[in-house]
Amino acid sequence: MNVDALIAAARPAASDVHLIESGIGRHAFVVDGSRFYDLDDTVFQTLKAAVDQQSVPAALASLQLKRARPAIGHDPVVPAPVHALSLAIAQKCNLGCAYCYAEEGSFGGPAKNMPLETATASVEMLLRGKHAGDRVNLAFMGGEPLVNRAVLREAAKYARNRAEHLGVVLTFSLTTNGTLLTPADADFLEDYGFAVTISLDGPAHLHNMLRPFKSGRGSFETIRKAILPLLERQRQMQVSARVTVTPEHKNLPQILDDFIRMGFHSVGFSPMLNSPNGRGEMEVGDLKRMLAEMVSCGYAFEKKTVAGERYPFTNMLQALKEIHRGTHRPYPCGAGAGYFGVSADGDLAACHRFVGNEVGALGTVSGGVDRERQATWMADRHVHRQEPCNTCWARYQCGGGCHHETIGRERRSCDYIRGWLYYCLGAYARLAATAPGLFHGHA
Ligand code: SF4
Ligand code: SF4
Repeated sequence: MNVDALIAAARPAASDVHLIESGIGRHAFVVDGSRFYDLDDTVFQTLKAAVDQQSVPAALASLQLKRARPAIGHDPVVPAPVHALSLAIAQKCNLGCAYCYAEEGSFGGPAKNMPLETATASVEMLLRGKHAGDRVNLAFMGGEPLVNRAVLREAAKYARNRAEHLGVVLTFSLTTNGTLLTPADADFLEDYGFAVTISLDGPAHLHNMLRPFKSGRGSFETIRKAILPLLERQRQMQVSARVTVTPEHKNLPQILDDFIRMGFHSVGFSPMLNSPNGRGEMEVGDLKRMLAEMVSCGYAFEKKTVAGERYPFTNMLQALKEIHRGTHRPYPCGAGAGYFGVSADGDLAACHRFVGNEVGALGTVSGGVDRERQATWMADRHVHRQEPCNTCWARYQCGGGCHHETIGRERRSCDYIRGWLYYCLGAYARLAATAPGLFHGHA
């Protein structure tokens, strides 16, 4: 299927069901509860007629696929206790990336480091009310977090001791540009079992153009050398690459192959949809090209998986996991619910990308979550409140799109999101038949 046909096949025809052709059969994705069915010809024709005649609810009822109560109602979800915090441990950066959401690390304000007291107070907030066996995640981001290495390490040590004392399962994450990593960092990150994400934007020339040092010098070679000790360790630690895709990116399958060969635990792509200065943003045509390349990456994943090879393409693994689990949610993520970003000054934001942005301000570490603002956030951000999401068949997988990318902006990436989901549903059907072992061990 070419990309135009894929986009057309994925466009919404009904809000409660979407019909999928996978090449090995026909299927229905029932939106309520994210249920996926293989169909015989009779049922397919029944549902197709219902879609054409806009009588899907009756058809689902007659096929006994309609539930008495929808899995997701209109009420805002009651937020779970805080289970993940992302500390902007350094609101400064040594790179000058063309598209940085954090405006070269400072989030539009003066450059600053988070003091240790703010970091430990954040840890206490994360662990408050937790019991043995509970799971929490502490992430370090920036700016470039390793600019404030001493506080990062002290905070991690403090958090580990406190979590061990309580019997809480604590995981660590770090998102870094990779330029400042040392072999001693590799030892530390391995010891603490960090999930490390390296922002790496593709082949050297492209990465150097998009992610130079402030001096203008390219950073690729520095990073390539600095990450070697991390890639070698990776026992408790996992090191992944994240590629921010801009209109300049022309060959994602090659980048995926190259990075997997470099030894990353996994490699993922995300389109640049919202940069403070508008530079590097993907327009509709760019997203269409990206979709075609993502599908090529997906076919490579399918081929290697059927051949028994590991091919850790993050976007595909994530999508297949969510389809298999039947993930359905009224939000795209946990931002502002159980997950918050913390600024260097100790302000709480809906997530790491809202640090310093009044729109996502939700309290302070010292004063706690502002429950009134949080209630408004949860109500306003519910996917049923978003247009045109409330009638889109992808709404409970997509959740209405990243809040940071959609607040106050038109949604540009819907064809991309739905096209990718349509492709992944087909891939799920194919892989369930040809590589069922892929799904063993998942719920
Ligand atoms: S943002 Fe997601 S849920 Fe909303 S219309 Fe686009 S694809 Fe559908
Ligand atoms: S709002 Fe966007 S950037 Fe923030 S956690 Fe959600 S998906 Fe990620």
